Amino acid sequence: MSVIPPGSTIGIFGGGQLGRMTALAAAAMGYDTHIYCPVADSPAFHVSRYQIQAPYDDEKSLAAFAKNVDVVTFEFENVPASAPEFLKQHVPVRPKGGILQISQNRVREKSFALSCGVPTAPFIEVHDLPSAVEKIGTPCLLKTSELGYDGKGQILIENEPGDISVTSASILEAYVRFKTEISSIVARGIDGSMVAFPTVENVHKNGILRTTYAPARVEDSIAKEAERLTKHLAEQLDIVGLLSVEYFVTDDGGLLFNEMAPRPHNSGHWTLDGCATSQFEQLVRAVCGLPLGSTHIHTPTVMENLLGDECLQWKGLLKDPEAKIHLYGKDRIVPGRKMGHVNLTMSHTHK
Ligand code: AMP
Repeated sequence: MSVIPPGSTIGIFGGGQLGRMTALAAAAMGYDTHIYCPVADSPAFHVSRYQIQAPYDDEKSLAAFAKNVDVVTFEFENVPASAPEFLKQHVPVRPKGGILQISQNRVREKSFALSCGVPTAPFIEVHDLPSAVEKIGTPCLLKTSELGYDGKGQILIENEPGDISVTSASILEAYVRFKTEISSIVARGIDGSMVAFPTVENVHKNGILRTTYAPARVEDSIAKEAERLTKHLAEQLDIVGLLSVEYFVTDDGGLLFNEMAPRPHNSGHWTLDGCATSQFEQLVRAVCGLPLGSTHIHTPTVMENLLGDECLQWKGLLKDPEAKIHLYGKDRIVPGRKMGHVNLTMSHTHK
C-alpha cells in the first residue's frame, strides 16, 4: 500500500487537545492538517493549516473536507457512522469507521473484549434497573452506554437502586475494588506491524484522570500482559492507527478491560517528553504508512493533568527546569475541564 508522504494533508475529525497535539506532530514531520470540528474556536484550529467548522453529518462540508485531504483520522470517536461511511468513498479513513462504532458504546466494546478472550468486570445492558442490580449485585456502577467520559454519567449504587431513573441507554457494571489502574497504547501500521508503548499507571479522581506514571509501578509480567492483550485487540479490530486500552489490576494481579479508544489517549501524553516517539507522531506514522517509531522510554515521567484553573499555575510549575508544560489554548476555564498537562521527570517527583 502506498505511503502518504510529507507534504500531504492529514484530515482530523475532532478539534480538541488530542487533535491539536496530533496536528503539531504532523507539522513537525512536514504534513499539513485539516481539522473538522463542529465547535467554534476549537484548540486544534489554532495550530492547523486548514479548518472546517461544521456538523459531522453535513455532506457538503464532508465532501469539501474529503477533497482537500489525503487520509482521515480521528481524535474523537463519537462521530455518527454516516461520516466515515461517506468519507471512505473518497479517501482512506484510518482507523475504519466500524471500529468507532464498537468503541463509542460501552456494551459493544466490553462484549467485543470478551469475544476476544479479554476479561471484563461483570456487566449487563440495562433494560430494567432493579433486575439488573439483582443480577450484578452491589456495589455496582450505572453508566451511560454512550457519550460518557471523565466519570460523567456514572452513578454508584451501594445497596438499592432506590428511585434512580434511567433516561438513556445504560450499562450496569460490578464495582471493581482494583489495586491499580493501568493502560496500554499500541500502534498498528497499514502492513499490520505493531509496537506497544510502555504500560503506564493511572490515578483517577472523581472519574477524571489526574496522574499517569510512566512506566507503571507494577510487576513486569502485568505490564507485559497489558501489552499482549492490547496487541491482540488491535489485531482483532484490524486497526490502523492507535488503540488505547484501560485495565483494572485486581488483587491477584489479573487484568480486567475497562474501556478502549481508537485514538491517542490522555494516559499517553507523557510520551511527548519521556519517549523516543510521541503517541501523536506515532499516529501520523501509522495512518500515513510510514515505519513506526521507537517506543523506548528515555525518561521515566509523571504526567499531571491541569484541570480547570490549575492551568494558571504554570509560573510555579516552570520553577522546576525539567517540567514540560503543555497548555491547550482553550477559550474558557471550567472546573474539571482538561486545560493542559505537565510532564515531570519521575526521579524528581517520586520515590
Ligand atoms: P470510565 O469512564 O469507565 O473510564 O470510568 C472512569 C473511572 O471510574 C475509571 O478510570 C475508574 O477509576 C472508575 N471506574 C469505572 N468503572 C469502574 C468499575 N466498574 N469499578 C470501579 N471503578 C470504576
